[in-house]
Amino acid sequence: MTSGGRKRRNIEKVALQIVNESGDEGILQSDLWKLIGVTSREGSRIAIRLEKKKLIRREREYHSKRWTYRLHPIKKNHPLLPVIDSPCIICANNSKCSVEDVVSPLNCRKLIEWVLKTG
Ligand code: SF4
Repeated sequence: MTSGGRKRRNIEKVALQIVNESGDEGILQSDLWKLIGVTSREGSRIAIRLEKKKLIRREREYHSKRWTYRLHPIKKNHPLLPVIDSPCIICANNSKCSVEDVVSPLNCRKLIEWVLKTG
């Protein structure tokens, strides 16, 4: 697998982890993209890929005067740690972390270790 492919798999895994943790309420996709630091375009692609793999369910929702999607987990019994344990929540670099920046979730050792530990 190319390093780009590996990075994409890692970010998909993080996104899936967070959706799985969202429980019955699910999570608005825009909130998820903010958490993992991807653009809405990239995020939509991730959501579509996860839905095609039948790992999540997307539901249309009218929110803040526009149509968007809420993402729901499909596997509800997966033994995962709460998302509150994510290193991003307390990370000092959170506000400047994005896939397009030098500080990126795609090469963050802390995040990858957390995902591997919980997945
Ligand atoms: S640097 Fe790592 S831990 Fe910090 S916000 Fe980015 S992905 Fe999360």
